[in-house]
Amino acid sequence: MSDCIFCKIANKEIPATVVFEDDDLLVFMDIGPIIKGHALVIPKKHYDPVTKTPDDLLAKLHLTAKRIAQAQMNGLGADGVNIMQNNGTAAGQEVPHIHVHVIPRFEGDGHHWNWNAKKYDDFDEMAELADKMRKHL
Ligand code: 5GP
Ligand code: ZN
Repeated sequence: MSDCIFCKIANKEIPATVVFEDDDLLVFMDIGPIIKGHALVIPKKHYDPVTKTPDDLLAKLHLTAKRIAQAQMNGLGADGVNIMQNNGTAAGQEVPHIHVHVIPRFEGDGHHWNWNAKKYDDFDEMAELADKMRKHL
């Protein structure tokens, strides 16, 4: 994808601060960290969204995110880590090249997700949605 910013980073056409790389993956620092130390794990090859990413590569992305989380705890002294992966503009995705956010969290770091929990009208509504999903597994 010639106009994809993460492909350009993977191809070293534009600079990034790299934490780790191998033949398949690149881990680099997010330019706009939610919390300082925020890293992104991407495949070097362009895939998007998660549903079109090959299983073995997706497993490797997430296993690498786990390693980065451990490195944030051991190396940065993080007390916790958020691992996130957005798909589609409706989900807040800005760069359409699959990436896993690994965000170190510190007690009292002051960041609060806008986790605005809703309520179902009733139990049937929840069961109906579960049923619709089950039919497509
Ligand atoms: P999304 O919203 O797509 O899940 O996240 C995209 C992330 O990429 C954002 O957190 C944003 O700060 C980061 N980002 C966008 N452009 C660049 C860039 O050119 N370099 C780096 N290092 N990060 C970027
Ligand atoms: Zn790309």
